[in-house]
Amino acid sequence: MPDKYYIKTYGCQMNELDGSQMGRLLGKHGYQATQVPEEASVILINTCSIREKASHKVYSDVGRFRALKLRNPEVILGVTGCQAQAESAHLHKRFPYLDLVVGPDHTGRIPELIEKAKREGGQQVAAVKLERRDDYQFLNLLPDEAESAHQALVTIMKGCDNFCSFCIVPFVRGREVCRDAEEIVAEVRDLAERGTLEVTLLGQNVNSYGVGRHAADPNALSFAKLLRRLSRETAIQRIRFTTSHPKDLSEELIEEFRDNPKLAAHFHLPIQSGSDAVLKRMYRDYTREGYLEKIARLRQARADLAISTDVIVGFCGETDAEFQDTLDLLEELRYDSIYSFVYSERPKTTAAQHFADDVPLEVKQERLRRLQDLQNRITLEKNVEWVGKTAEVLVEGPSRQGTTYSGRSSQNHIVHFEGSEAEVGTLLKVKILRACSNSLIGEKDVG
Ligand code: SF4
Repeated sequence: MPDKYYIKTYGCQMNELDGSQMGRLLGKHGYQATQVPEEASVILINTCSIREKASHKVYSDVGRFRALKLRNPEVILGVTGCQAQAESAHLHKRFPYLDLVVGPDHTGRIPELIEKAKREGGQQVAAVKLERRDDYQFLNLLPDEAESAHQALVTIMKGCDNFCSFCIVPFVRGREVCRDAEEIVAEVRDLAERGTLEVTLLGQNVNSYGVGRHAADPNALSFAKLLRRLSRETAIQRIRFTTSHPKDLSEELIEEFRDNPKLAAHFHLPIQSGSDAVLKRMYRDYTREGYLEKIARLRQARADLAISTDVIVGFCGETDAEFQDTLDLLEELRYDSIYSFVYSERPKTTAAQHFADDVPLEVKQERLRRLQDLQNRITLEKNVEWVGKTAEVLVEGPSRQGTTYSGRSSQNHIVHFEGSEAEVGTLLKVKILRACSNSLIGEKDVG
């Protein structure tokens, strides 16, 4: 019987992809995946450190999985991902029975570190110094036949140079490194040949792909040009990407949205706050007005575009008036959806070191509730506008309720309809009959 691995992943799509890549690597070393931790001889908790709450969950996981290690001391238990990078020394001390603490830049070394832990015992710690480095090797492991899917995640860059004052990412993922364009095109071409219809390109700030210091690289392309190459030189049918920084959203990219029908009609553009004063404290490097202009240009370029954003509520010093600016912005922009969070201080960031986290928790929570109530109303109104229209849906599989099938529209709505197994992994036209707060309900448009 081959050894089995169990990976529990927290956090963003980038972490999700790292988790899959770890699984593929372990697969190449003879391991099999399992969803049951009790069956596994290797248990990895792939962590996120973007918010305090996610960090705390990991501590309880480590305790829970330790029980399995006590039952069978040969079980290898490891923490990987951003928290392993951010807190390697702390994890090392607090949980001396951990076999591995491995930061994101060392994902490729996991099989070797597991072997070392088995051979030598003790804790294998692989966190990196986060200095600038351009020799970073991106993992390039395609899904195997068994996991071959209609949608795939593709990394195009890693790290971030922006140092927004609230954000831990540059401290755990390091400085920005762009992946070679030829490698990206080759991976997307391979995926399309295996039946993938839609790719999501991943990076902390994809809009800055190929600009700045990367411009000196003869292979570097701007992000818009990379999108054009992927559309022209591969058989992929739909391209999404995440995430974008408003300051780097170029006119060239806006024009690409106008001209390139393979780009999904969805743009996620994090605003974080509607107040210029808060944006300044966040070191975001754009103004409310500049942001509004870019959204107007995007909507001009592509009328069917859905727009979503991220908002942080209760950032250091946020006053009632500054919070009201964010509510007003939501009313004005009418996003299709938002991801919203209360601010939580993260170690090493400028905000943690220099600004007081002085908005009381109950005020933060009350603001979050008001913000979400407002957006829920807007989202439902925007969804209702879809009734009677036809959406192009990539069918993903049976709905959770099991009575219908569901998929994603180009605008990233979840759409439920009467379908069949044979339609999974195809693009279908679905006429929208009803709108709910989180999804649309329709029927196949046979007209
Ligand atoms: S752009 Fe700002 S928020 Fe986004 S990853 Fe970089 S530092 Fe964090």
